Amino acid sequence: MSISDNYLDADSAVYKTLLESTKAIPWKINWSTLQFSYIGPQIEALLGWSPDSWLTVEDWALRMHPDDRAWVVDFCVAQSKAGTDHEADYRALTKDGQYIWIRDVVHVVRKENGEVDSLIGFMFDITERKDTEQKLIELQKQLEELSFKDGLTGVFNRRMFDSVMEVEWANAKRNRQPLSLIMLDIDYFKQYNDYYGHIQGDECLKRVANVLACVATRSRDFFARYGGEEFILVLPETDEAAAFKIAERCRNVIFKAQIPHEKSLVSQLLTISIGTSTITPTRNDEAIKFIATVDKQLYVAKEKGRNSIA
Ligand code: GH3
Ligand code: MG
Ligand code: MG
Repeated sequence: MSISDNYLDADSAVYKTLLESTKAIPWKINWSTLQFSYIGPQIEALLGWSPDSWLTVEDWALRMHPDDRAWVVDFCVAQSKAGTDHEADYRALTKDGQYIWIRDVVHVVRKENGEVDSLIGFMFDITERKDTEQKLIELQKQLEELSFKDGLTGVFNRRMFDSVMEVEWANAKRNRQPLSLIMLDIDYFKQYNDYYGHIQGDECLKRVANVLACVATRSRDFFARYGGEEFILVLPETDEAAAFKIAERCRNVIFKAQIPHEKSLVSQLLTISIGTSTITPTRNDEAIKFIATVDKQLYVAKEKGRNSIA
């Protein structure tokens, strides 16, 4: 053995120690036989499969989540054939049947004549990163939902109403279609709160919101909590007569809900007052004025003695 061989052996030992003490798991595949010629012993700590159980690429492919397998294998084979370094994220199967997210970073080693000789790479455990990503996605979804939904009742909120109204107003104007609005307000709700307490007041609001949310059923009909004990319905392509029918249905479902209200001055049961208006907007009309008109109608209904539609 020459002196340089000795140096090489010493170097190899150092490299081996370095490779096998990192968290990343090194491996090498012989391209002509598609067999592993090396895999770091760390693989056993991560996935439970012993290093000598990794014989061929088949073993690698089989120990992958079935949903990831096809595209990862196709992708890696194509990239390797083309001699392109690449990386892939997939779920690797552990010996006890769990899945762990892996990022495999692959380097293609070529012979002098340019043919692919082997693949060498590192597997990284990215489970934590994937979990965090997933949590962030879920949080983002929740945030989007929360910003358009009323926290108490779960129906859409005033902000969403503003957006929807803007879109439907423009639609109605462009297509010269009638647009109806129905504004609903619980009668003597202050007395309800005073008598039954705020907690039950909240429960009552939830109940009313859930009942009213099911009244209008066309796909673009929209229902929201407009404010404290006020709700609103946007009814695109709906004329006055149809809107009035829906307003009546609202009163009906509230009556059917039979919510006791001992301190109401108009009934023993909870009632609502309703203002409604219909418009086929033209260039000179403004949504904000239309909403004010509906609000005025609600006021008229209250003046008429409540539990009524104006
Ligand atoms: P009217 O028949 O004229 O509509 O009288 P009202 O008592 O229903 O109307 P008013 O505007 O005087 O009172 C509304 C009440 O609704 C007062 C407020 O405390 C209550 N309210 C508003 N938001 C909530 C809420 O989120 N939870 C509860 N429990 N009460 C609320
Ligand atoms: Mg009110
Ligand atoms: Mg009220």
